[in-house]
Amino acid sequence: MNELNLKNKVAVITGGAGVICSTMAKSLAAEGVKTVILDLNMEAAEKVATEIEKEFKTKSVGISASVLDKTSLEGALKQIHEKVGPVDILINGAGGNSPAATSKVEKMVGNENLEDTFFGLKIEGFDKVFDLNFKGTLLPSMVFATDMVSKKSGVIINISSMNSYRPLTKIPAYSAAKSAVNNFTQWLAVHFAKVGVRVNAIAPGFLLTNQNRFLLIDEKTGEMTARSKKILNGTPMERFCTPEELTGTVLYLASDLSKAVTGIIIPVDGGFSAYSGV
Ligand code: NAD
Repeated sequence: MNELNLKNKVAVITGGAGVICSTMAKSLAAEGVKTVILDLNMEAAEKVATEIEKEFKTKSVGISASVLDKTSLEGALKQIHEKVGPVDILINGAGGNSPAATSKVEKMVGNENLEDTFFGLKIEGFDKVFDLNFKGTLLPSMVFATDMVSKKSGVIINISSMNSYRPLTKIPAYSAAKSAVNNFTQWLAVHFAKVGVRVNAIAPGFLLTNQNRFLLIDEKTGEMTARSKKILNGTPMERFCTPEELTGTVLYLASDLSKAVTGIIIPVDGGFSAYSGV
């Protein structure tokens, strides 16, 4: 018998065409899970679904929808019912930061151009980042957990971040939005605890991906930025994590291995959250 017992379950992975979530989808497909790659980018979603079907011989479909638009998610659910069946697992992976909500200066000393500090942050950037990370977790949960509550069985895995515990410099909107994701994870876990739906989150440490490349690699030289070096100094393992290293935690949270676990946020961070820096 397959220990994880995930075969033929249906998982929706939002942001499933992205770096981290396509890897998570593949790890579920390897266990026989039928995967729905839900992404704003239809072409990329279909590409990931095709790769999955080819590599793992399990059903995978690419669906275009926005996690910020409830009507579009309801349309996606209809398609999912037609193509694969009711949803058992939801990974809320769509998320990210925006340069418009990122300050140039880390710590003010008082003589800098105010535009480069807190005062230059754009409220539109805050709106965008809060919407994508927080509402983009809330709305898919509202739409896709209806199947889980009907069956009295299901799992939601939210994707948080290290900066949800302590904010990183420069990115106040992303940090606060991921904190809100942690808080909502606990709230929804309590709300659903008696109807068989578990809600947990993963807080990845530092990975080198599209959303943070502009902060971690110098565009001109291709070298690591001073920020990258600081991250590695603050990570006891002294390296970036890889998307593959998140998948063990995904399988644990998605399966009955974590049957009594709900409302927790698991760091997968090379020790970053444990280290005082001294
Ligand atoms: P990514 O940019 O590679 O992928 C994000 C995907 O989400 C893209 O395919 C994009 O098309 C999709 N998307 C964007 N807006 C959408 C919308 N409105 N509706 C549906 N899909 C939408 O991102 P990633 O780096 O793989 O990050 C995935 C998750 O992990 C995010 O929640 C991110 O905040 C989190 N995270 C990333 C890191 C990191 O170092 N990269 C660290 C911690 C947490």
